[in-house]
Amino acid sequence: MNEYDSNRIADLAKQAGYIKTSNINNTDCYILNTCHIREKATEKVYHDIGRLKKNYKNKKKPIVLVTGCVAQAENNEMLERESYIDAVIGPQSYHNVPSILSKLNDRRKKLNFTDFDVVKKFDRLNTLKNSESKVSSFITVQEGCDKFCNFCVVPYTRGPEHSRSPEEIIEEAKDLIINGAKEITLLGQNVNAYSSNKKGKIYKFSDLIMELQNLEELKRIRYTTSHPKDMTNDLIDCHKKVKKLMPFLHLPVQSGSNKILKNMNRKHTREEYLSIIQNLEKAKPDIRFSSDFIVGYPGETEEDFYDTISLVKEVNFINSFSFIYNPRPGTPAFNFETINKEIQKKRLIILQNLLENIQTKENKNQVGKLKGVLIENKMKNQSNYFGRIRNLTPIVISNANEKDIGKIIDVRIKNYNRNTLFGVKENAEREVAA
Ligand code: SF4
Repeated sequence: MNEYDSNRIADLAKQAGYIKTSNINNTDCYILNTCHIREKATEKVYHDIGRLKKNYKNKKKPIVLVTGCVAQAENNEMLERESYIDAVIGPQSYHNVPSILSKLNDRRKKLNFTDFDVVKKFDRLNTLKNSESKVSSFITVQEGCDKFCNFCVVPYTRGPEHSRSPEEIIEEAKDLIINGAKEITLLGQNVNAYSSNKKGKIYKFSDLIMELQNLEELKRIRYTTSHPKDMTNDLIDCHKKVKKLMPFLHLPVQSGSNKILKNMNRKHTREEYLSIIQNLEKAKPDIRFSSDFIVGYPGETEEDFYDTISLVKEVNFINSFSFIYNPRPGTPAFNFETINKEIQKKRLIILQNLLENIQTKENKNQVGKLKGVLIENKMKNQSNYFGRIRNLTPIVISNANEKDIGKIIDVRIKNYNRNTLFGVKENAEREVAA
């Protein structure tokens, strides 16, 4: 979502007369869009600003804006600690970037924009065409979270759940398609909690997917990130009915232990999670999954940890994110008693080894197969091209060409490593179905 937000911030800054540059050592304005999920996020911001100060020591100071969730969480503290920062702007207030830039041009006063103004934000963004021109593009359809997992900062930094109207989303999708998008990933902190209304009727996330599939030039649809609680039957049914919906789902579970899930306030059990997986597999037999895992959460025993291991083996996640539990200030779990660091580290290694083995085996199994690949771009400083197969695995193609960008072509898988497949284009003239 930060990638989407960064692009939209660039669109807004353009309105204020600024253009995007890759020359970060010679710019009038420096916007640092931040994420607060990971450990040491705040320190990374100060580190980046420190580097900036050094680079601009003998030059005119650029306007420095810190946007995103770190700005939201730390706001005034940040302005007080680092005088080089001109404004902090939360993720629901970045539609104010043009007016903030003009204010900062007039007078050098520190500004704090951290209201949860999400309706105004999207009203403003809707007046501005999304200039993103990638084959695979993002659209934020939902923001915020009402789930309040005990370990997570998102409900405090992104605010309550808010869904955009279907009309706004379809309009933005059409703009992206005109710009060359063939694949759209629908984004939200709880994307499948999406709920709006159309002509007085409730309009669900599944309705949005059904409507998007009618956009002819759009070949692939994905969505992330989902909460198991919102994985409704109509949405599962979409995976059966909508051919453009790709057979891959990132569905965070965090732990395989019911006790830990309860301590996390996840609002679902292991059994409920597994039943969703089974129903999705019934709806789309070739569907594959990835997940997020927190290892060493307060109260996690050896038995709880091995419940996670058995769940991983049962689902066979092909790609996942796993971290040692990191207490985040302001969350309920911050005050829970943590478990031994060494035990946490040991468990993370066991889990990651298992996840890596499954991923490697999955990629090895692809060798020799013919796969439909959406070609996204030529790789930097290489003659190879980059694309993805239907289950999102990245693939490097050695014999594609510029004309293949934006097409779905047959690629024979020749080699693999843990993260990536390597292949060659076949049936040169044939563009295949999604
Ligand atoms: S559902 Fe996701 S975003 Fe919401 S609190 Fe839980 S982990 Fe955070």
